[in-house]
Amino acid sequence: MKKNDYIFQEISTLKGVGIKLSRYLKNKKIEKINDLLWNLPYSYTDRSVLVKSNSLEIGKILTIKLKIIKYNFPRIRNLPKKIIAKDDVGEVDIVYFNAREGYLRKILPIGEWVVVSGKISIYKNRYQLTNPDYVTKIDNISYVNKVIPKYSLSEGLNEKIYRKIIDQVIDKLPEVNEWLDNDIIAKFNFPSWKKSMSHIHLSIKDKDINSPYYKRLAFDEIFCHLLVLSENRKKIKKIKKIKKEFNETNSNIIKKNLPFILTEDQNKVIDEINIDLKSNNKMFRVLQGDVGSGKTIVSLITAANVIENNFQCALMAPTEILASQHFNLSKTIFKNTKIKISLLTGKVDVADRRKIIKDLENGKIDLLIGTHAIFQKKIIFKKLGFIIIDEQHKFGVKQRMALSKKGGDNCDILLMSATPIPRTMMLTIYGDMDISKINKKPLNRKNILTLSKPENKIDELWPFIKKQLKNDNQIFWVCPLIEDSKFLDYSSAVKKFKIIEKRFPGKVGLIHGALEKSQKETLLKKFLKKEIKILVSTTVIEVGIDFPNANLIIIENANKFGLAQLHQLRGRVGRGEQQGICILLFKDSLSKNAIERLKILKSTNDGFLIAEEDMRLRGYGDIIGFKQSGIKYFKIADPIHHKDLFKVAENYFQKNFNISITPTKYDFLMKLFDKAEVININFED
Ligand code: ADP
Ligand code: MG
Repeated sequence: MKKNDYIFQEISTLKGVGIKLSRYLKNKKIEKINDLLWNLPYSYTDRSVLVKSNSLEIGKILTIKLKIIKYNFPRIRNLPKKIIAKDDVGEVDIVYFNAREGYLRKILPIGEWVVVSGKISIYKNRYQLTNPDYVTKIDNISYVNKVIPKYSLSEGLNEKIYRKIIDQVIDKLPEVNEWLDNDIIAKFNFPSWKKSMSHIHLSIKDKDINSPYYKRLAFDEIFCHLLVLSENRKKIKKIKKIKKEFNETNSNIIKKNLPFILTEDQNKVIDEINIDLKSNNKMFRVLQGDVGSGKTIVSLITAANVIENNFQCALMAPTEILASQHFNLSKTIFKNTKIKISLLTGKVDVADRRKIIKDLENGKIDLLIGTHAIFQKKIIFKKLGFIIIDEQHKFGVKQRMALSKKGGDNCDILLMSATPIPRTMMLTIYGDMDISKINKKPLNRKNILTLSKPENKIDELWPFIKKQLKNDNQIFWVCPLIEDSKFLDYSSAVKKFKIIEKRFPGKVGLIHGALEKSQKETLLKKFLKKEIKILVSTTVIEVGIDFPNANLIIIENANKFGLAQLHQLRGRVGRGEQQGICILLFKDSLSKNAIERLKILKSTNDGFLIAEEDMRLRGYGDIIGFKQSGIKYFKIADPIHHKDLFKVAENYFQKNFNISITPTKYDFLMKLFDKAEVININFED
């Protein structure tokens, strides 16, 4: 074992950590010594005030020097045991529940001075310290009489026990070789890793999110994250493939037959993808574009080019409905070409499925569209050259690594996502991929009219809804989001459903979290076929699906949602001819922050801008880009507070894209943030 590897050992190797304590720590997800280090103190207890017994304050945590003068131990076992103590100005009672006499006699010997620290209370006009946090001998006063870090601890753990463990660890922190470049260290005046880690545990002011100690560790985390992405990116870039050759014959036919002309951004992105297809390098690209920006057509046009070169293509969608919609669209736009398309979902019956599998193997299918079913083991392509994944923003770094290997070296890969991500977070989220962006939506797209209303005026809505239904429009009704309780979530939606159903009998459907995926899809289909006019739902309505006849969305308790999420929700409507309308319902009083957020949502339809504002107003933890990106929260780095760190780290990697994780310079850093495993995914198998 290398000396530095000490901190990656199991906690049970620590002195004083037995089976029981290990178990308690494991309940807090602390298994290795490293986990202890990242369990940062959340606050501090100030025990530095040393007072005399005549200036005690009830309710305060204070530290007193006292001399033990008398025990008052009752005969009856369960009564509290009292120890009377004094200093030169008065008396204080020390009171214990559930302590053994022998133990108390030992720690509080008659006639001796001790230091006691704890919360002051009063009983029958006498000050007392009940179950004090600390009792120690005078010569050990400095261990108690100071500011002491407070950790979030659970059952079986208390400050005293925990300090013994953490002190031991901090004391033995290894001196590690620096991994950051000198100019970065100089730029921020960063202390060493060891110094930063120990300061953050032991001193109040250094725990501040803006202290150099904290920032150093945050930078390490950002750096490590980008290092992993950059390493993955390099591995993918090394893959050599057979170039795809085409004259855009197919795609020109398609373009000519479109009922619209492509936007500048769409054309730009098509060019970017074509260049990748024609190159020797395997494409691993993400196409970012707001809802309704027209990504599907871009992917199909480029697929047509690949097919022209006699390669097969696969398009995967997250749901069966979306896959069918893509299938129908493809049939229309590929009408005048010889391209053969098939749809494969879980719904396809055995005979058809067998035929699809055979045709794929024989190369009789050019484009296979479907759900994840298209990547089952039995599905073998004759010559797969292009994989398109729609709406899979939830893929994390690890899943993307696995995806990048799919289809073999000759297969190009395009991911599409409508999840708006702030510009500043692009590299942090997609640093392993090349990025294409559609910024502007097609011009014909009408902005969605966004209105707000207090919930108690909901009655004013009914006539409006009635009118909508009369005009044959359909409505989404999104219920308040109740996190962490499936039952409450369900029951509130049912309640709402009943209220609406009473007014519009036979016209309302309900989707909630407890339904199976297939049940949800059945309901969505009914809605698509207009068999249902109002769809009440708790879960976020599936991204990507076109409901051309739904023009009104009502969102209850709208302040529970992030801006970007509201933006995605309202993107469900106004996809047809009619003006889309979004009504946000609020509980009566709104905070200033909420009002500001509302204003932004009403004033713009730019998903990227909204994501940035969302991040500014709510912090990054809440933006859906982050939650859905599959990237777990950082342990300590925070894109709002540490914007400067992110910027410098991103610049660094843009300049040093050749940075290598070998030989061993970054080993410790990787282990520190549990990244060793991600980086070790083997590419050659
Ligand atoms: P998304 O990017 O959300 O996946 P889609 O590909 O579903 O968007 O496109 C949304 C709608 O816009 C579709 O009905 C599509 O036919 C239409 N569309 C795509 N490109 C254009 C364009 N350049 N002009 C007008 N309409 C377009
Ligand atoms: Mg789409």
